[in-house]
Amino acid sequence: MKRVLITGAAGFLGSHLCDRFIKDGYYVIGMDNLITGDLKNIEHLFHLKQFEFHHHDVCNFVHVSGELDYILHFASPASPIDYLKIPIQTLKVSSVGTLNLLGLAKKKNARILVASTSEIYGDPLVHPQNEEYYGNVSSIGPRGVYDEAKRFMESLTMAYHRYHGVDTRIVRIFNTYGPRMRLNDGRVVPAFMGQALRGEDITVFGDGSQTRSFCYIDDQVEGIYRLLMSDYSNPINIGNPHETTILEFAQEIIKLTGTQQKIIFEPLPQDDPLQRQPDITKAKEILGWEPKIDRTEGLKIVYDYFKSLSPEELQKKEH
Ligand code: NAD
Ligand code: UDP
Repeated sequence: MKRVLITGAAGFLGSHLCDRFIKDGYYVIGMDNLITGDLKNIEHLFHLKQFEFHHHDVCNFVHVSGELDYILHFASPASPIDYLKIPIQTLKVSSVGTLNLLGLAKKKNARILVASTSEIYGDPLVHPQNEEYYGNVSSIGPRGVYDEAKRFMESLTMAYHRYHGVDTRIVRIFNTYGPRMRLNDGRVVPAFMGQALRGEDITVFGDGSQTRSFCYIDDQVEGIYRLLMSDYSNPINIGNPHETTILEFAQEIIKLTGTQQKIIFEPLPQDDPLQRQPDITKAKEILGWEPKIDRTEGLKIVYDYFKSLSPEELQKKEH
């Protein structure tokens, strides 16, 4: 049985990756310090012989006994309000944490895939964003703690690849949504749906003309899986190119949820990228991957998930 270590296992993406690898017959070692994650995302796996969980901060030396075939490094705060609240931990997990995991990959002769992000393109001057674009990031702005840590993570990963021959993969993930996102994590999908469910107004930041392109979790997991199994070591964008303005998106959520509330406008956070859309030519050509689930279908699934949460869960404002 092949063995895979997944960091950030109790988070949104990590928990779905655990499910996917369990389903495909792998032995899965989940690791998480629970800083933004929740054990309830993986508690359905605890009784399985194929699964073990390590409550551990990957910024401290990472020890795993036995062999490892694959490492997927997904530990990191991922929502702007999280990484603004815990900026130093955000910088550490993608730098020191990545260093520890690359060291582990080298020791175990394991293939490692690291979770990078569209944020490495910053507020992009090229549209749509392809992998050749170097990005436009403010190193000292509030989002820099996330963006620069991820850029450093990519450099470190390529250095281990070039100088130590470690078998590496880098996925640049564009805005992904689905069940198990934290309703109060501030990202726009849970934010708007939570507001609709609580009967609050929908808060559009800025004038809502900024754009994003939302990818459903199952498509994202399939793209990551294909990249891991490929022999391609340069970064690859995985995301859904179907772009929308945030104002249109708010109207879409109002229609879906049937909320009677109105849209209110709040200030645009500093360095909030004005446009974002992945160029997925490489993913199509190299991985034979493209997203299959359209937004209407995906949003319905995630709305049903949020509707099924308890009233206490729905009212929770802080993690
Ligand atoms: P999440 O907050 O749901 O999950 C992150 C997990 O990492 C949490 O369970 C958290 O407790 C854990 N973690 C954080 N620091 C840790 C540490 N030092 N040691 C051990 N565990 C730690 O976020 P997510 O949306 O699932 O994102 C997962 C990964 O994907 C992140 O690396 C993020 O940067 C990347 N990503 C996500 C998106 C997206 O749209 N969801 C987009 C781009 C990149
Ligand atoms: N956004 C918004 N209202 C909210 C939360 C977010 O208008 O209540 C906007 C935010 O300013 C950004 C977009 O939605 O332009 C996506 O935000 P998110 O935090 O989901 O992701 P990111 O900015 O990291 O792409």
